[in-house]
Amino acid sequence: MSEKRTEIGQLGEFGLIDRISKTAVIHNTSTIKGIGDDAAVIDTGEKYLLLTTDQLIEGIHFDLSYMPIKHLGYKSVAANVSDIAAMNAIPRQITVNIGISNRFSVEAIDALYEGVQAACLNYKVDLVGGDTTASPSGLFISVTVLGEVDKEKVAYRSGASDKDIICVTGDLGGAYMGLQILEREKQVFLTNPEMQPKLEGFDYIVQRQLKPEARMDIIYEFRDTGLSPTSMIDISDGLASDLMHVCRQSGIGARIFEDKLPIDQLTYNTAIEFKIDPATCALNGGEDYELLFTINQKDLKKVEMHPDIHLIGYMDKKEKEPVMVTKQDQMIVLKAQGWDHFPDK
Ligand code: ADP
Ligand code: MG
Repeated sequence: MSEKRTEIGQLGEFGLIDRISKTAVIHNTSTIKGIGDDAAVIDTGEKYLLLTTDQLIEGIHFDLSYMPIKHLGYKSVAANVSDIAAMNAIPRQITVNIGISNRFSVEAIDALYEGVQAACLNYKVDLVGGDTTASPSGLFISVTVLGEVDKEKVAYRSGASDKDIICVTGDLGGAYMGLQILEREKQVFLTNPEMQPKLEGFDYIVQRQLKPEARMDIIYEFRDTGLSPTSMIDISDGLASDLMHVCRQSGIGARIFEDKLPIDQLTYNTAIEFKIDPATCALNGGEDYELLFTINQKDLKKVEMHPDIHLIGYMDKKEKEPVMVTKQDQMIVLKAQGWDHFPDK
């Protein structure tokens, strides 16, 4: 008798996480929010403690032929701090786990930790522990961050209401186009090692891919202006996918406008050069680590003049899913493409 076997690709990453979350029984009343947001929320008495973890694996998330190892250290901390920012919280401590094969020298690990420490300095977090193991081949790095927040300030994915304004920080699609440039130059190099990579003129988007920043600056501004987003998520998988999470968890649809998508000129031009629709880059390109949040209309004044916060639409109970009004005034339903680590092919 053969046992049933289901391919992971049939469920996809989100389906698999859903399946795992159904098995997670909560035993402690201090667990306020478990699986399903950017970070877990734990009641420690006076404040909430935030906990989040993410791993980066060689060959899946990064390629050391164009990713300087110091940048990798920085990015693995920044990507995790971004999940704490997405809860409207302040990061405090990190632990770092690494798996290393004998391909890596002590100097390489020194450089990795230079990046980790640069991020610790920038985000004012303390490296307080971790674990080191051998790996059969390649490198992995997994970071866990602890953060804290005043209870009334915590922002979940689930808090958006009808007519709330949808805001996005920075610009979108740059990290994805930066990756396309790096991949193109790698292919050129592989076919002809005499050729030097041509990265000049693409600095901004290459930087977006190699050295992303968590938007803690925005969280500190929220503290200064007294703004409390009604919901928030960081854009790590792409706007479409991450807006879908906000919609599903808030139980409400959304309407965004293509002509409001924040796309940097270089991202736009490079997308055209690659024959990719710039809007598709903004919607489905990952790893921008910008913040997507909603605000009550009464708070509009606190963001409308902000040079780095863009109003892209509003939550809409008339819709069941997120929809986008295109430049041609057509309405399309957004698909949560995200990153598919488990393609069913
Ligand atoms: P993010 O992109 O913000 O890091 P993810 O999509 O990775 O979020 O994760 C969504 C939620 O699922 C989080 O609450 C995360 O902790 C949880 N999660 C992801 N993988 C697992 C797993 N293997 N076991 C338990 N929870 C998981
Ligand atoms: Mg996140």
